[in-house]
Amino acid sequence: MINIVLFGPPGSGKGTQAQNLIEKFNLKQISTGDLFRYNMKNGTALGILAKSYIDKGELVPDQVTTDMLIEEVKKPTNTNGFIFDGYPRTANQTDALETIVKDILNDEISVCLSLIVSDEILVERLLKRGETSGRTDDSNEEIIRTRIKEYYTKTAEVAELYKQQGKYVEVNGVGGIEEIAAKLFAEVEKISL
Ligand code: AMP
Repeated sequence: MINIVLFGPPGSGKGTQAQNLIEKFNLKQISTGDLFRYNMKNGTALGILAKSYIDKGELVPDQVTTDMLIEEVKKPTNTNGFIFDGYPRTANQTDALETIVKDILNDEISVCLSLIVSDEILVERLLKRGETSGRTDDSNEEIIRTRIKEYYTKTAEVAELYKQQGKYVEVNGVGGIEEIAAKLFAEVEKISL
């Protein structure tokens, strides 16, 4: 199996590049942000709880997020593996993911691919996305900057853990979509050959 952790700040193109990787390698994407938004749209108890954090640009508590992820990993799939998009974001979630992949899939994380984009480009991209996405957390520069700051403070430790395991790879996330995809494909091919 190929189990990729796709890593990058909000607006780094994770969603777009996950789609490219899914098609290329036949993977199932699990995006915790998308799962929360689905629950918020449907007004579930989980969605109402998540909204109180998401609207402020804060992380949803680990336990709630991890329980939701486990339900997704357990669903049957015919794919060659998974892309974890937006999870893990904390050291606690990184440990949880290792256990989940081992216990449910009898496998391990193959690689953590990290998209690198400067803060100024991220803010610009997110404000632009907010004009059409209708996402409340994309429409305000202050909330966007909180999300980016939160990402770096909380996720530095995640990058560190994957670095220690020799599984952390940085890819420049600025440039054409195809160009970035090609770099990501090359990194995955390195580990799956
Ligand atoms: P995203 O679409 O990945 O930017 O996620 C949108 C929002 O959902 C984040 O700002 C968090 O509030 C919440 N969220 C998504 N994934 C996680 C996670 N792994 N842990 C905690 N909160 C998360």
